[in-house]
Amino acid sequence: MQWIDSHSHHYLTSLSILDELHQGGLSGVVEASWVPIRPTSSSTLIDLYAWVVNREKERLSKIGLKPIPAIGIHPRCIPTGELEQSLNYVQTWLQMEDVKALGEVGLESGDDTEVYVLERQLRLAMAADKPVIMHTPKSNKKTVLKKILNVVDAVSFPPEMVVIDHLNSEVYDMVHSLKTYFGLSVQPGKLSVNESFDLVQKLDFDRVLINSDSSTEPSQPSWPALLLNKLELSELSEASRKIALENPKKYYKI
Ligand SMILES: [Zn+2]
Repeated sequence: MQWIDSHSHHYLTSLSILDELHQGGLSGVVEASWVPIRPTSSSTLIDLYAWVVNREKERLSKIGLKPIPAIGIHPRCIPTGELEQSLNYVQTWLQMEDVKALGEVGLESGDDTEVYVLERQLRLAMAADKPVIMHTPKSNKKTVLKKILNVVDAVSFPPEMVVIDHLNSEVYDMVHSLKTYFGLSVQPGKLSVNESFDLVQKLDFDRVLINSDSSTEPSQPSWPALLLNKLELSELSEASRKIALENPKKYYKI
């Protein structure tokens, strides 16, 4: 089945593995900017964005996989210096047509600097009319998610242009009635195929986006495809079809 991975860091994955995934049905990958280190300077972001947007377009075209780039400042990647310069770069890159979303952004600890950077970036996304990939942390998920929702509210960001990502059953009660999209990361340490399957059945599947969040951390880039197969086999083919392609196409306007 053809599907789009709605959130990954596949620019860190070899072309051979991506080619195999592509032959197995993966037709497009949202690649959101993130590095496993806190940059010491804003110039790191420039190189990262050029890699995710320009270099990936060239690389993925060799195997016919569609790149869907997103750029932003991840809460764990807030540069230790030159913050204003970094935000200026985000503003410039967000305006490019090739860039389909602001992401990955969000809160990790939820401290004041993170809140400030998130708020500034949401305003930039609103001005550029780009949707947002919103990270929620592993620990303290409920408290930090509450803060995230407060920031979204405070800047009057349209909820239908936010995907709250890395959702799990712990925060189901907080999110199910929201007007946002629901991001399920089918990845070791986040959600198993079975856990995602249960959540898809409980949420409004018109607004569910699934992803592998593949990075340098333990990742199983084909788990989302296993979830789609499980939905098909359980006669939930409408949900499967929408989650595979329709929802990401609609959300990222591609
Ligand atoms: Zn991610």
